[in-house]
Amino acid sequence: MTSERDIPLDRRDEAWGRLVLAAQKCEKCPLAPGRKNVVFGDGDRSTRLLFIGEAPGAEEDEQGIPFVGKAGQLLTRILEAAGIDRKGIYITNVVKCRPPGNRVPSIEEMHACEDILKGQVALINPSIIVCLGATPTKWILKTGPGESISKIRGKWFDWKGIRVMPMFHPSFLLRNQSKKKGSPRELTWIDIQEVRDRWLECR
Ligand code: SF4
Repeated sequence: MTSERDIPLDRRDEAWGRLVLAAQKCEKCPLAPGRKNVVFGDGDRSTRLLFIGEAPGAEEDEQGIPFVGKAGQLLTRILEAAGIDRKGIYITNVVKCRPPGNRVPSIEEMHACEDILKGQVALINPSIIVCLGATPTKWILKTGPGESISKIRGKWFDWKGIRVMPMFHPSFLLRNQSKKKGSPRELTWIDIQEVRDRWLECR
């Protein structure tokens, strides 16, 4: 089977450019009228490590870049502490436009935005996907109500040949400041080191 990485770079660049353009013009769901910017993604798309969050927040909508608000700054610090250069990975969200009041995107909105995320995954062709929080975890792994993020975080799953790890969303860590043993922050530190180690193996 031909992988996306076998496709010449200029053709992948063209396909990526078409995807960016399609997202910028997209009005497929009710989130379009309220956005300031379509937040497509950020980072190095030749990476093997893709992080997927839920949706842009106010700061992300303002700047057009994912994970630049308080939660994003915490994510950047966690990555740095683990020795992962944020510029060397790619970060995006399940939906590319900000839901009002930072609510969880509806099933219909996620479904409407699905082709963009699928296109990004196909063109990046990552070895590892990290799902930040419950929303991307449900989208990717189709987890049910009994599989909460606290139960499945830190575990590896296979999704179409890609290794997928759910982790806590950094906004959850902002609300849970404890660093005690077994706290979300301590568990996230364990998880990110595991991700780093597996990423180093496949680089
Ligand atoms: S969230 Fe996705 S589907 Fe909805 S308008 Fe934005 S780009 Fe289009």
